[in-house]
Amino acid sequence: MWQKISQSLQLLSQSHCVICDVLGQGALCDVCRQSIGKPKHSCRICGQAIIGNSSDNRCKTCMQSPPAYESLYYIGAYDEVLSSLIIKAKVGKQLSAVIALRSLVDDFISTDNCDTDNHNNGYRWAEQFADYHLLPMPIPRSRLMQRGFNLPLLLAKRLSVQCHSFNYHLPIVPQHCITQPFFVKKQSKLNRQQRLKNQHYYQINHKLSHKLPKKIVIIDDVVTTGTTVGQLAKFLRGQGVQRLSVWVMARGIIGKF
Ligand SMILES: [Zn+2]
Ligand SMILES: [Zn+2]
Repeated sequence: MWQKISQSLQLLSQSHCVICDVLGQGALCDVCRQSIGKPKHSCRICGQAIIGNSSDNRCKTCMQSPPAYESLYYIGAYDEVLSSLIIKAKVGKQLSAVIALRSLVDDFISTDNCDTDNHNNGYRWAEQFADYHLLPMPIPRSRLMQRGFNLPLLLAKRLSVQCHSFNYHLPIVPQHCITQPFFVKKQSKLNRQQRLKNQHYYQINHKLSHKLPKKIVIIDDVVTTGTTVGQLAKFLRGQGVQRLSVWVMARGIIGKF
């Protein structure tokens, strides 16, 4: 898939921005790229915007009941540009949108600016998680067949390749190692209350000889309420995973920033 994308890159450098249609800056123009934002102060665990005072950089939710993962890194808020790119890639299967997302992953890894509060330090991210495995969010087979394309896996592969170029080897947990045996309703079609009740069930595929690694970064395209990723993290803890982090393209942010 990435090879196919690379072949199309040159062609796309003369093409229109996926979002605003401006010509000549590749799949994502500078203005759209720079409009991807993040809150100035975010929770050091879940990445949510912190409103008001927080002495140890944790949001109220994480102080009251912390998730099963230790940290969540993301490229930007799930706002206009990122939501549009992800929908165009996932639903519209637009290659140019996938290329734009890939370039954002590349930017993330090659950026060496230490800005821990904003979780915007990709090179250091690679260093920090150098002994972790990447686990693309499991997708039920029925949904994969319907979609024909696995965005979390593509993102994980790109992250792994980019980290490798900095001599950090972050392997990907074999596909179908963890499965979702039951069909669950799409989170995006539910409200917050329904989402909390909409339980995801995961299973270890014992047919595979591969043992689950002790340190895992879950990779996904979007986290909105965090319910789905929280349930997977809880399951992984139950399976003996000792260190857990999350990396996503976009995170739903409450309020304006
Ligand atoms: Zn644009
Ligand atoms: Zn939090």
